[in-house]
Amino acid sequence: MPDMRIPFNRPTVLGKELANIEEALTTAHLSGDGPFTLRCHQWLESTLGSKKALLTHSCTAALEMAAMLADLGPGDEVVMPAFTFVSTANAVVLRGATPVFVDIRADTLNLDETLVEQAITPRTRAILPVHYAGVACEMDVLMDIAARHQLLVIEDAAQGLLSTYRGRPLGTIGELGALSFHETKNVIAGEGGALLVQDERLIGRAEIIREKGTNRSSFFRGQVDKYTWVDIGSSYLPSEIIAAFLHAQLEAARELTDKRRRAWTRYHDAFADLEDAGVVRRPIVPPECGHNAHLYYLLLPTLAARTATLARMKERGVAALFHYVPLDSSPAGRKFARTSGDLAITHDLSDRLVRLPLWPNLSDAEVDAVIDVARDTIVSATR
Ligand SMILES: *Cc1c(COP(=O)(O)O)cnc(C)c1O
Repeated sequence: MPDMRIPFNRPTVLGKELANIEEALTTAHLSGDGPFTLRCHQWLESTLGSKKALLTHSCTAALEMAAMLADLGPGDEVVMPAFTFVSTANAVVLRGATPVFVDIRADTLNLDETLVEQAITPRTRAILPVHYAGVACEMDVLMDIAARHQLLVIEDAAQGLLSTYRGRPLGTIGELGALSFHETKNVIAGEGGALLVQDERLIGRAEIIREKGTNRSSFFRGQVDKYTWVDIGSSYLPSEIIAAFLHAQLEAARELTDKRRRAWTRYHDAFADLEDAGVVRRPIVPPECGHNAHLYYLLLPTLAARTATLARMKERGVAALFHYVPLDSSPAGRKFARTSGDLAITHDLSDRLVRLPLWPNLSDAEVDAVIDVARDTIVSATR
């Protein structure tokens, strides 16, 4: 059988998105905060149990809003992993503040909570945990450290929609949480995101920052008789066309997650013997973490084996990818951030990680084809 061409991701469109967009067109409300945005907010608030949800253009935008709400400024520090997407750090740097990178745990690849306290200084303002692969950070410990040092917790839950930590949805445990609806995530809007707010004192200001620094949201609710410029802000609200698309996806969020989980589990079962033989390490999900099958990865023994595996899989038509270039070794990271400790696990694991194709409608036959190609290439790359 010839190898199939399998991309890393194929955005899943369910069919109802277009009907929703047509409905938005007939109501003639195309700018932000119309009926579909309201329905998305209600879905997020009721499904996740969030005090407030606000749609944004992206998780990047939600993180920028969170950094403004945290009142970060020059000299302030935010503790986060270097094993993350650039937006986690950029949001802090845009306020003139400094990301402080801490190493990750070898099991979950999440911020190592046991190293956080030693990274805290009098300038620390917040902790920014990233729930890698939709598997939760050790939130009880992080929330306790934050409470003792009076720090905000901003969760980067870009990958964590419908994942839980001790039964609590990710993004709703810290004072602020950021979700992504980018086309590579579990629920998509092309580009999109949301800010989740649990601290009631931050809700009013979050609405103002999202509406260009005006009190327009209060005006629309009839709470003030004219609206005006009251704070810093930008335009962070998506149009109703995006919200209409997103609402169709949110309504199917559980089904989309279950379909991902089917492929995730098929991969997990298929590599058990290679893990027993010491050739790969599979993802580790602690019992307190309910995960959303956001991504499936394997850890290979060496960088050379990873490099060879990615190249040979590509030759055979399967798009496997690495994750991430650690931010402390990037040009901007060296310029704008500092590290606490040596980040040895971050550098070791990011050299050895391979992500496999995964999307909701990936068929069993396609999963099996990826497994065949991956097993062949890994076995020959590690011989
Ligand atoms: C995808 C992702 C982001 C950025 O999300 P956008 O919606 O594309 O801005 C931020 N952080 C993490 C961990 C991500 O995976």
